[in-house]
Amino acid sequence: RQERLKPFHGLPSVSADGHRVELVANIGSVQDAQQALKQGAEGIGLFRTEFLFMGRPDLPKEDEQFAAYRSVAETFGKDAPIVIRTMDIGGDKELPSLQLDREENPFLGYRAIRISLDRPELFKTQLRAILKASAYGNLKVMFPMIATLEEWRKAKGLLEACKQELTTEGVPYNERIEAGIMIEIPAAALLADRFAREADFFSIGTNDLVQYTMAADRMNSKLGYLSDPLHPAVLRLIEMVIRAAHRENKWAGMCGEMAGQPMALPILLGMGLDEFSMSAAAVLPARALIAELDRGKLIDLADKVLELEDAAAVREYVKQHVPALN
Ligand code: PEP
Ligand code: MG
Repeated sequence: RQERLKPFHGLPSVSADGHRVELVANIGSVQDAQQALKQGAEGIGLFRTEFLFMGRPDLPKEDEQFAAYRSVAETFGKDAPIVIRTMDIGGDKELPSLQLDREENPFLGYRAIRISLDRPELFKTQLRAILKASAYGNLKVMFPMIATLEEWRKAKGLLEACKQELTTEGVPYNERIEAGIMIEIPAAALLADRFAREADFFSIGTNDLVQYTMAADRMNSKLGYLSDPLHPAVLRLIEMVIRAAHRENKWAGMCGEMAGQPMALPILLGMGLDEFSMSAAAVLPARALIAELDRGKLIDLADKVLELEDAAAVREYVKQHVPALN
């Protein structure tokens, strides 16, 4: 199998009928970036920056963060897209330096952008570090757990404030850095048309989007039957989000586990997803599968599955209509 995949290393990701997409990796550390490059990723679609904050008594300084972001950018060179997600901590993730309260429902609690907006000085340290690193590669910044336009505008406002500071200080950064939103709360998916007017891109976080749509804790193994991204309720949200982005000429990616699942790829390709971010090991198999798929035929398939009743029916339909999966 390894031998069969080798020729796909270093190639663009193109369907049999010439439709190009981007296959990038999810990473959680600087070392992961080197691994992702070796495994054929075209860039990074999700850099989980939580590792910088966890398992230590103090908060990471701007310089330490800058070094980490710059190092990932330099691993991939000047042009490869690197999407840095601002920290997504809180709830179930321990953070001694912030002394967070224990919560009854951590996944519905004080988490991610909610903490960042409540602690702007902490948030600005991260934004400044990302901006500084943007002088060394094609960095993009992305905000997790956005539910409302007000949250997005506040986050974007703080990013602009940091840009002004750096300009005043004479520190170089990419003035046109893209700023995007993770779509992982149903409220944001439902208002995607409004968000798309203002954000530069979307990245759909299906791990959380599924848990919030189905009201099923993503950690609870008893609820596996509900935690299925192929459920038509989830697929409809995903389709809405991609369509909303394209109407405003913005790109739409996905960084939840779903993006790397062979059964989901034909559907997402048919819906027009532009960027697929997955664990590095899934990149070459996905590129090989996409090379066998005819995107023109999948547009219809993507429409059809939205009319089915449950995930099992979606699986069955995709299996029947996509011979390359067998
Ligand atoms: C997601 O929710 O799909 C996602 C990619 O973010 P995380 O898994 O880090 O919550
Ligand atoms: Mg998430």
